[in-house]
Amino acid sequence: MLYLVATPIGNLEDMTFRAVRILKEVDLIACEDTRHSRKLLDHFQVSTPLTSFFEHNERDKGRQLLEKLKSGLSIALISDAGTPAISDPGYRLVRLCHEQAIPVTIIPGAQAAVSALAVSGLATDRFVFEGFLPAKRKGRCERLSDLANEPRTLVFYESPHRLAATLADVAEVFGVDRDVVVVRELTKLYEEICRGTAGDLVERWQDEKVRGEIVLLVAGAPEREPEVDLESAVRQALATGAAPKQISRELSKVYGLSGSDVYQVVLQVKQGAKVEQDA
Ligand code: SAM
Repeated sequence: MLYLVATPIGNLEDMTFRAVRILKEVDLIACEDTRHSRKLLDHFQVSTPLTSFFEHNERDKGRQLLEKLKSGLSIALISDAGTPAISDPGYRLVRLCHEQAIPVTIIPGAQAAVSALAVSGLATDRFVFEGFLPAKRKGRCERLSDLANEPRTLVFYESPHRLAATLADVAEVFGVDRDVVVVRELTKLYEEICRGTAGDLVERWQDEKVRGEIVLLVAGAPEREPEVDLESAVRQALATGAAPKQISRELSKVYGLSGSDVYQVVLQVKQGAKVEQDA
């Protein structure tokens, strides 16, 4: 069995009882950085052997871990913080296990993107997790442009030294009025949830040296009003049998036009319909 075990994203009290038990029971723990994870595991008196599994050894190591799993060993996968396999190479090991019919299960817990979304106050009914944006400005602006009309809340991971530049790009591509939330150092001493428009947050962060871990959230693009087609609206209203004056009065409010302008359109549509009928 491969166990995906979530670990805290800052506050050690967020470790779950089940995570500690499973980490003690498995034969081996695969982690990104053995020195980093050893400290966490020592804190919880877990003495299970550790092995490294990260971006650059992931192919060979993945195969070795798979062989061990096939031979009957149980392995836990953890990341430096939060839920393994989310925005880290762990997902490839999970896929290999599924392909080889090795059972995979999860011990859920802290997850930075979802925790930040929950505290952001932005819409949570639909959201898109975009991971890290490209580090270079050109690539970043291209990615943001692709997302400019996305109506779902956008969730990004961001490094502190790029925050100011990324906020400036967000303001440029999405407009200064788009709502943005910067969630920093969640569950830690200097936790901060900074909300405002893109313009506000560019100002707030432009001269400040930013530290810590960051999730950047951007409100989805406002749903656009359906294209207004006055003639179709007039046609539909005439079909209900409403009188031209009443139609002009009501539609002039909806379309922000003068009653007489709409009345002309009503007459034209009526005339057109009559011509069609006579023909
Ligand atoms: N797998 C992890 C998870 O599920 O939370 C995320 C791994 S990702 C490589 C690391 C990124 O998560 C950081 O660069 C930062 O953007 C975000 N992050 C992690 N811990 C955080 C925290 N305490 N507060 C805010 N963001 C955090």
